[in-house]
Amino acid sequence: MGPAPHNAAGKGASHAEGTVKVELRRPALVEQELLVEIDPEERVTVFHGSDVIMEATPDTELSIEIPASDDVIEQIFARGPVTAARHQDRPHCFGCSVEREDGLGIATRPIGTTGIWGTTWTPDESLPSTDGFINDEILWAALDCPGSFAASDPSGRPPGVTGSPSLEAMTVQIREKVRVGEQLAVMGWTLSHSDSTVDCGTAIVDRTGRVKAYAHLCHSIADDNTPHGQ
Ligand SMILES: [Zn+2]
Repeated sequence: MGPAPHNAAGKGASHAEGTVKVELRRPALVEQELLVEIDPEERVTVFHGSDVIMEATPDTELSIEIPASDDVIEQIFARGPVTAARHQDRPHCFGCSVEREDGLGIATRPIGTTGIWGTTWTPDESLPSTDGFINDEILWAALDCPGSFAASDPSGRPPGVTGSPSLEAMTVQIREKVRVGEQLAVMGWTLSHSDSTVDCGTAIVDRTGRVKAYAHLCHSIADDNTPHGQ
């Protein structure tokens, strides 16, 4: 079996409805066989053997300010996708590697001095879809990496902390399905930080700034973290 085409969070969340919060308990390797269990309260638990990898629960409406101004959207589309590997790239990551042919290639970069990281994304027809709309777990993967990139920005993290961000929890609201071949912008930005954590927002928006899906991500920052996408 090859690598799973989505992140563990999306695997669990794709079984739940509406706004969903996912808490990651321990890292899942992409080739591990994962079991999904859904209880009567709609809590979704993903196991590897007897180890809990993540839990997903329905959440209340996700309320964050999404900085998708006309100016930001214009700048993201003017620059287009990142096509060459850059120093912050993770070559194996399904979401952000520009070297993986089966990946999403969502490698965000700073948009001027806005504090927002962004790039364009046109979902490929090879991605899992239903009736021409991209499956939800792919949107989860698309909303994951931009948070990690934003959390790596020195301006939005605790002074002197240099480690890799590690995703602890992710809450996603999908407002509208995304069409195969649709031209989109994906963006990430820092919401807040403490001494050892960085919270970020991420969003998928169309050319007119219409928000398709958005997320709130909590990262812990430590010098001994496993790098993102490994
Ligand atoms: Zn990534």
